Amino acid sequence: MSFSHEKLIVYQRILVFNSKVSLWLLSLTLISIQFFASGCKKQDVPLNEAAAWQWPVMGTLASLTVRGDAPDTALMLAKAALEEVNAQLSVFNPASNVGQLNVAAGMDVAIRLHPHTQHMLDVSIQYCRDSGGAFSPLVGPLMEAWGFFRGGEGRAIGVPSAEVIADAQRLCDLSRVERRDDGTARLLDVGMKLDFGAIAKGYGVDVAFERLLAANYTNVLVNLGGNMRAQGVPSPERKAWRIAIRDPRLTLADQPLGTVLLGEGRAIATSGSYEQYFEWEGKRYSHIMDPRTGFPVSDEVLQVTILAPTAMAADALSTTCFVLGAEAGMKYLARQPGCEALFVVSGGKGSFSVSMTEGFKAVFEASPPHTGAQKNDCKTD
Ligand code: ADP
Ligand code: MG
Repeated sequence: MSFSHEKLIVYQRILVFNSKVSLWLLSLTLISIQFFASGCKKQDVPLNEAAAWQWPVMGTLASLTVRGDAPDTALMLAKAALEEVNAQLSVFNPASNVGQLNVAAGMDVAIRLHPHTQHMLDVSIQYCRDSGGAFSPLVGPLMEAWGFFRGGEGRAIGVPSAEVIADAQRLCDLSRVERRDDGTARLLDVGMKLDFGAIAKGYGVDVAFERLLAANYTNVLVNLGGNMRAQGVPSPERKAWRIAIRDPRLTLADQPLGTVLLGEGRAIATSGSYEQYFEWEGKRYSHIMDPRTGFPVSDEVLQVTILAPTAMAADALSTTCFVLGAEAGMKYLARQPGCEALFVVSGGKGSFSVSMTEGFKAVFEASPPHTGAQKNDCKTD
């Protein structure tokens, strides 16, 4: 077994971050990080200390922080869970269950749905209906029409013609997904493309997290590209895991907007327009689409962070609220049990305002006013 991809990250006042995401894990005490190098050498980790790893998966970085016996087993469980989910749900792998459905779109070939795919479809259809089409698991053709591809980077191909946009939009029609009683499904039209990019990472976190809990790990934080779920505490003296929320104007190493405490199985996720976008003729086009218009979401909302009972919900709802905008997003969120939101809305000329639900306010601790000089300690290898 090789762990060659893991990176050793040792911090004092630890700031675990990954380049693609907008949330950081910020632990305010010294945590000694154990690292199991290639060959998987076993190390005994004192119960009061946390072990942490980071590795690439699902087009982003995963990290696991765990305190307790046999942390290396926890790592294996988490890695296996994320790999299993990715093997079925990846839109970029034609051999995945989702890839097979996409390749067979428009053909008379029914594909057997893996339970992960079935679940993603069921839940996504529900989110699509609830949100009036702001969330759509069939957004793939729109992503392609606007030039987004693997890794999510935008290509400056310009604004597609109205005809190209309308064609792609037509392919986002959920009534053209045929599901059969025998557990198989078909995408009925050539060019249809399932894309669980706004929900699968959160779901993967849940699968990993639940398996860790079932294996009696009671102090864990699972993070996949900023989709996080946590249980217990990072150290005995702390009440919960402290998560920092990125200031959308600044780089990851800068002072965050503030922090929230996460634990008791709750999850957090952020969607933003600042990392995956392209610019064309002075305008920014984000990688989050509004399937109702066929256009990328405009720059009004810079960032949405959602607290939710599962990472899947936090992931899907952060994207949905980003599409809906602050006002409609807040109303929509009020109907989602156990969910709280923080919106960062552009005020133009680099300024922005922050609005939060009452429940978010209750757990949010704003950073002291930004001086420009002050930075969190932040080290990576
Ligand atoms: P990220 O995955 O970059 O952290 P999100 O969770 O917001 O950010 O998901 C964005 C991804 O979701 C896009 O790359 C695309 O695959 C997919 N997507 C884009 N727009 C929508 C939408 N309106 N509904 C559902 N999925 C979407
Ligand atoms: Mg999402």
